[in-house]
Amino acid sequence: MHNRLSDYDVSTKYQAKVVESERITPEDAEAEVRHLVLEVADPSFDFVEGQNIGVLAPGRKDLGSEVQFRLYSIANARDDAPAGAKQLEIAVRRCFSMDEFSGEREPGLVSNYLCDRKPGDEITITGPYGGAFALPNDEHINLLMIGMGTGIAPFRAFLKSIYKQHRQWQGKIRLFYGAKRGIDMLYMNDLKNDFANYYDEETFKAIEALSPRPAFDEPVALDKAIEEHGKEVWAMIQDPLTNVYVAGLETAREALDAAMGNIVGSAEVWRRTKEDLKSKGRWFELIY
Ligand SMILES: Cc1cc2nc3c(=O)[nH]c(=O)nc-3n(C[C@H](O)[C@H](O)[C@H](O)COP(=O)(O)OP(=O)(O)OC[C@H]3O[C@@H](n4cnc5c(N)ncnc54)[C@H](O)[C@@H]3O)c2cc1C
Repeated sequence: MHNRLSDYDVSTKYQAKVVESERITPEDAEAEVRHLVLEVADPSFDFVEGQNIGVLAPGRKDLGSEVQFRLYSIANARDDAPAGAKQLEIAVRRCFSMDEFSGEREPGLVSNYLCDRKPGDEITITGPYGGAFALPNDEHINLLMIGMGTGIAPFRAFLKSIYKQHRQWQGKIRLFYGAKRGIDMLYMNDLKNDFANYYDEETFKAIEALSPRPAFDEPVALDKAIEEHGKEVWAMIQDPLTNVYVAGLETAREALDAAMGNIVGSAEVWRRTKEDLKSKGRWFELIY
C-alpha cells in the first residue's frame, strides 16, 4: 500500500539524527533489514507504542517527484523521561520493485534512502500517526500477536513497554512470527536477539514459524504454526479478555485467515468471528 502524502498531516516536521544504523539480517540473507536509532531533539515530539512515524525523503527529480513520504512503525518503547531528546527505533527493509516496462529491479526510494543513512546524518520525520494499534491499559488482557517481516516492529515496542512499565502483566502473551529461516527472524537471530530477554517471563511465549520455501517474500508457514497451536489460539480468541493484533504485509493477515479458517472449520465462521472481535474492539490491524 502506498502512503500518500496528501492523506497525512505533515505540517509539523522534526529533524531526527541517525544515532545508529545496524544490519539485523545476516549478509547472506536475501533481505537487508536495518535497525535505525533516531534521536529527536525537539522536546515537543512524543509517541506511544504502536504508532508510526512518517519519513520525508528526497524524490527523484527525473520523475518529477520532489519529496517522498512513507510510514515506519516505531519499534521501541517510549522513554519515561518527560523532557529532553527522544529516541525512537525503526526496522527498515531495503525494498525493490520490478519496473513493469524494463523488467528491471528498481530500488524503493525511501527505504533505500533510510538504509543508506549513516550515524550523524539528519532526516526529516513527521507524525507520529495512528493510536488505535495500542496496548490495553488492563494488565489482565491476553495479547495474541501475529506478524511477519517488519511487522515485528510494533510488537517489539509492546514487549519492551510491557516489561519495562508493567512488570506484573497478568495476561498471556503469545507472539507468532514468520520468516524464511531462523537467522532471518528479526530481533530473534544471532545478530540481534533482544526477544531472548523475555523468554523466561512466565506469560510470554514466542512461536516461530519458519518457512520451508526458498524466497523470503513467499508466504511463510505462519499459518501452519498457528494451526499447530490451534487449540490454544482458539481458546484465547474465545476468551473476552484477549486482544488480537496482526502486523506487517498483507500476507500476515492472509496466513492468519487461512489458519483460522482451518481451525474453526470454515472461512465463513472465521469471518463472522473476526467481525465480532472487531465490533467488540478486540481486533487490531497494522497492515501494509
Ligand atoms: C502503517 C505502515 C507501517 C509501516 N511500517 C514499516 C516498517 O516498520 N518497516 C518497513 O520496512 N516498512 C514499513 N512500511 C512500509 C514503508 O512505508 C514503505 O512502503 C517501504 O519502506 C517501501 O518504500 P520505498 O519507497 O522504499 O519503496 P516502494 O517503491 O514504495 O516499494 C517497493 C516495494 O516494496 C514492497 N514493500 C513495502 N514495504 C515492505 C516491507 N516492509 N517488506 C517487504 N516488502 C515491502 C512494496 O510492496 C513494493 O513492491 C509501513 C507501511 C505502513 C503503511
